[in-house]
Amino acid sequence: MGNAAEIKEYDVIIIGGGPGGSCCALALKDTGLKVAVIDKSEFPRDKVCGELMHRKTIETLTSIVPEFEEEFKKYPKTSVLKHTRMHYKGKSIVYDWVGESYTCPRLEFDNFLLNRVKQEANISVFTGTTPEKYTVAADSVTVTIKNSDIIFKCKLLIGADGVNSVVAKQLADKTLNRDHYLGAVRTYFSNITDLRSDTSEVFFNSKFHLNCLWVFPVQGKNNMANVGFGLLSSDISKKKINLKDAFYEYFKISPELGEKFKNAQQEGPLEGFGVSLGSAMGIVSGDRFMLIGDAASLTNPISGTGMGNAVVSGKLAADQIKKCFEENNFSKEYMHQYDVILEQNIYKDLIASYKAQRLFSKIPFILDIVFWLTRYEWIKKKVQRLV
Ligand SMILES: Cc1cc2nc3c(=O)[nH]c(=O)nc-3n(C[C@H](O)[C@H](O)[C@H](O)COP(=O)(O)OP(=O)(O)OC[C@H]3O[C@@H](n4cnc5c(N)ncnc54)[C@H](O)[C@@H]3O)c2cc1C
Repeated sequence: MGNAAEIKEYDVIIIGGGPGGSCCALALKDTGLKVAVIDKSEFPRDKVCGELMHRKTIETLTSIVPEFEEEFKKYPKTSVLKHTRMHYKGKSIVYDWVGESYTCPRLEFDNFLLNRVKQEANISVFTGTTPEKYTVAADSVTVTIKNSDIIFKCKLLIGADGVNSVVAKQLADKTLNRDHYLGAVRTYFSNITDLRSDTSEVFFNSKFHLNCLWVFPVQGKNNMANVGFGLLSSDISKKKINLKDAFYEYFKISPELGEKFKNAQQEGPLEGFGVSLGSAMGIVSGDRFMLIGDAASLTNPISGTGMGNAVVSGKLAADQIKKCFEENNFSKEYMHQYDVILEQNIYKDLIASYKAQRLFSKIPFILDIVFWLTRYEWIKKKVQRLV
């Protein structure tokens, strides 16, 4: 006969210790609630990403932990970005970031953030722990763990387990829609010519229209950058595109990239990962659960960035968690307040970006037009607001 299962009970369990899950946990630090973060990976772990952190990622974390931005800026792997440069047909436009943005390898940043979570007495972190099944009952949620007798129980569950979220599949019936999903690849290159540590760069080519190749500097290395490229998944399958071949082709058909990378060496493999676009709002909550970050599909359809919305949704979910415990109400109807807040604060802008992206993608010569129009400062500002 097997041993009786060990039951670990919490008020809140957060599945996933990426930026969304960690931010949600930190936002619950002074609530007196007993919180667990469960992640299938051992940390430090990598996450395929462009690693560009828009202002709102760091601003949101700093609104919860006031010293966060100062500490993060001093971290040796952090690059401070002040500008972004767009290239097309030999011309380039420079945008100045409103406030500073950052890059930091996800291997480092996610570990830095999760270590901050571990300092909180009311939060327990379990890494290398893979949940298998989520069962919602009238008074609790049960989480069984793969290859383990330990059972976790909580009053409220948060799905922060990324683009392939098992919480979203099991509790919100989430399926993959290729029209709202990108395939993306990234690697690192060193020895890049004329790479500025305070400037992110994106390269457009008419062959790939609005899908740009990004070059984001990595701090403290030999002119090194994170370099990557993504395409809509439905286009990849319809047009039978091999994404890795398309990535290397980009350097051959863009003279300015050829020049910039003439002495560069690739460092490490070209790795692929999915991006679930925030272009349609699906189920994001239900009885005793909420989804945040990539699990709720909150990536910007134009820029492909999702860390900012992952942390903002983590903070919004924490506000809803506090209300649920105050009112002792964990019902689907009560949880719907989170859907409304998420729609107002995040989806409205994402859907506007998606519509703009769809419209622009149907207009031939749109990039020529945008590059011509951005001579006017007010148009430049409008373009900047969409990403
Ligand atoms: C190629 C590429 C480039 C990108 N570039 C950028 C960029 O430059 N800037 C930007 O802001 N965004 C970028 N994104 C998007 C960004 O990576 C995500 O939006 C962001 O990581 C979402 O954070 P999250 O916390 O929701 O999920 P994640 O960061 O994916 O974290 C999820 C966590 O859950 C864990 N997990 C996964 N499955 C399970 C499971 N079954 N059980 C338990 N734990 C699990 C994982 O180990 C991970 O720690 C890019 C994405 C890709 C693919």
